[in-house]
Amino acid sequence: MTTNRLALLDVLASARRPLSMPEILDRGTGLAQSSVYRNLVVLEQAGVVHRLLSANDFARYELVEDLTEHHHHLICESCGSVEDFEVPARLDRSVRSALHDEAARRGFTVRSHRLDVVGLCRRCSNASRPRPRSVGRS
Ligand SMILES: [Zn+2]
Ligand SMILES: [Zn+2]
Repeated sequence: MTTNRLALLDVLASARRPLSMPEILDRGTGLAQSSVYRNLVVLEQAGVVHRLLSANDFARYELVEDLTEHHHHLICESCGSVEDFEVPARLDRSVRSALHDEAARRGFTVRSHRLDVVGLCRRCSNASRPRPRSVGRS
């Protein structure tokens, strides 16, 4: 593992959500974009980093769940932001068992699942929703 790769893993580990390339560069690893990109490809191939596409097809990177915790994503289809999203353990268990049953019927053995929720983030929902008229209190 080179220092550059360790620095990248550090940046990803300290974020609470998957980061896009500009966000990674902003966090000052001191690496050039080409070198960040090259190292991310290596880390992805090594199974340490997971790449996901947000709604606008921007790649975002995070550490694989083996190194973090099981979670889901809230993906905004308007601004492309991605947030980590943990569901209550009970809900996740029932999702998992439903998926297991369905997959088993197709002879598929489930190891994990990825479930991303697509919609509008708080900021974009507020922007698209007409402001409620304030009720005057006299
Ligand atoms: Zn948004
Ligand atoms: Zn889950």
